[in-house]
Amino acid sequence: MSIVILPESVVSRIAAGEAVERPASAIKELIENAIDAGASSINVEAEAGGKRLMRISDNGAGIRNDELALAFKRHATSKLRDSADLQAISTLGFRGEALASIAAVSQVTVHTRHRDDDMGRSMRLNGGDIQTQRSIGAPAGTVITIENLFFNTPARLKFLKRDVTEKRHILQVVERYALAYPQIAFALRQDGRERFRSSGQGDLADVAARVFGKDAFNRMVAVASDDSGWRGSIPIRVRGYASWPSLTRKDRSKIILFVNGRAIQDASLSHAVTQAYDGMINAGRFPLAALLISLPPEQVDVNVHPTKAEVRFRDGYQVFAAVQRSVRQALQTAEPEAAATDPWTSSGSNESVVDYQPLRSSIRFLESGDSFDDAELAFIPEAADGPQKPRTLPLLRVVGQIGASYIVAEGPAGMYLVDQNAAHERLLYEQIREQHESGQLETVKPGESQTILLSPDDASRLGELADTFARLGFEIEEFGPNTFTVRALPLCVASLRSSDVITALLARLNGGSKSPEDAIAALAGVAAVRSGQILQSDEMKSLVAGLERCPSPLASPNGRTTLVHMTREQLASEFRR
Ligand code: ADP
Ligand code: MG
Repeated sequence: MSIVILPESVVSRIAAGEAVERPASAIKELIENAIDAGASSINVEAEAGGKRLMRISDNGAGIRNDELALAFKRHATSKLRDSADLQAISTLGFRGEALASIAAVSQVTVHTRHRDDDMGRSMRLNGGDIQTQRSIGAPAGTVITIENLFFNTPARLKFLKRDVTEKRHILQVVERYALAYPQIAFALRQDGRERFRSSGQGDLADVAARVFGKDAFNRMVAVASDDSGWRGSIPIRVRGYASWPSLTRKDRSKIILFVNGRAIQDASLSHAVTQAYDGMINAGRFPLAALLISLPPEQVDVNVHPTKAEVRFRDGYQVFAAVQRSVRQALQTAEPEAAATDPWTSSGSNESVVDYQPLRSSIRFLESGDSFDDAELAFIPEAADGPQKPRTLPLLRVVGQIGASYIVAEGPAGMYLVDQNAAHERLLYEQIREQHESGQLETVKPGESQTILLSPDDASRLGELADTFARLGFEIEEFGPNTFTVRALPLCVASLRSSDVITALLARLNGGSKSPEDAIAALAGVAAVRSGQILQSDEMKSLVAGLERCPSPLASPNGRTTLVHMTREQLASEFRR
């Protein structure tokens, strides 16, 4: 073939491939545009993982009528004038490429009104060609709808992953920008369901709790350091949150870094974060963190990569050191728990189904409607062994088991029948919840790695619930189609078959997103002893002893009765005494 200059239509599709790799990268670009336009509220909608439709609405400045067509041309930007500006970029966009690239490979509709214009304008493009344009009435701001991404580049389309994967990438992008811009209210709907929302109140802690989940966030410390730039060093500020050493994951995916408001991937900086945990966490485990790093713009070159996800620092070492130091300092001044050992390495016996450790105290008493009065509890001598949670039931003496389902016990006020399954659910629920709160999730690694095959349906639900499973202490890796390897699982299910545990848990988590409490209740339900299971005397004793100190001992987490009480009077009247 002889050499020719490629026609513009081909060039723009090639360029589009660099900036727009997948639906989430288009959303990232449009969010950045909205932020650059000064929006205080950004709504994102996506259907079918963004493949069918993506819509980003903002209340920013809007695009002027006479500039709308221009905005979709390559190298059209309002953010850069000459190459000197490239030295210190303070906007997220600057390449003037995103709108053109996205439009080249999709069908775009834009509605916008600049805040200085009386009328707004809408425009429709197909593969980058303008189809229609007209004047419209609209509030100030911009709504861009992208349909059928990659419709004219089938090769790209083929490389897109399953919807769940693309959905996860989209969620990640929105979460990241919400973290970096707590003063902007973000909302994300996927396939009609709200997946994320931030308040826009400017409170980083609030956004971080939503992104990491409340349980995890409660096990993170605030990072705040300022290097003032004395003696010629550059001023670097680090703000954010980092997990206690007891909260780790198998990969670096939750080390979220921002440089001057831009979400970046930087192996060296995530290494700096991990290094701060040196000696506190095991090799192969990684902390969670969201760190906002600010330094003078001229110290950072953001023009390294089309997706702008990588940056280059003038003095990489100083930035590395500042990040590492700030996290280390935060960990050292954190709660004493932060110095605890990594629970992932605790082996924990899995011989007994019922294994009750004395639990960290939690000051809670009987709920109203509970039927034991203080006088009854006050007469019970406390065991001398270590700190105990307050008693919520009188001391019970186990008499035996009936029907392999109920434990018969005697107390100061008569006879008690305990539903072993409901009671164990309650007890496990409280134990797991406490572990979550204290950052001491007890997990075990199966002796030999267990590979499990799931139905396609279960496999995709496992994908959707990956975060929920991870928060419960599961470490599951996708191994092949519908095939997974279980690397770690919660101690309470260690004696059960991994595949049974996972399918049972998926069944219990059926239908919609679950709160952490729901997830914990589901795990407790899977792990609890069944009705029909014969229990040893010791097992019954520790089950009853544990129940005696549960905050709400009279019902299982999903409301089933755990305990039936027959007073002495009732018994006597039954026998007509
Ligand atoms: P860049 O962001 O690098 O300038 P883009 O192709 O993303 O390039 O956008 C081109 C131009 O269109 C921007 O410089 C900006 O002037 C305008 N623009 C894009 N999106 C918006 C928006 N949501 N609100 C206001 N102006 C926008
Ligand atoms: Mg842009």
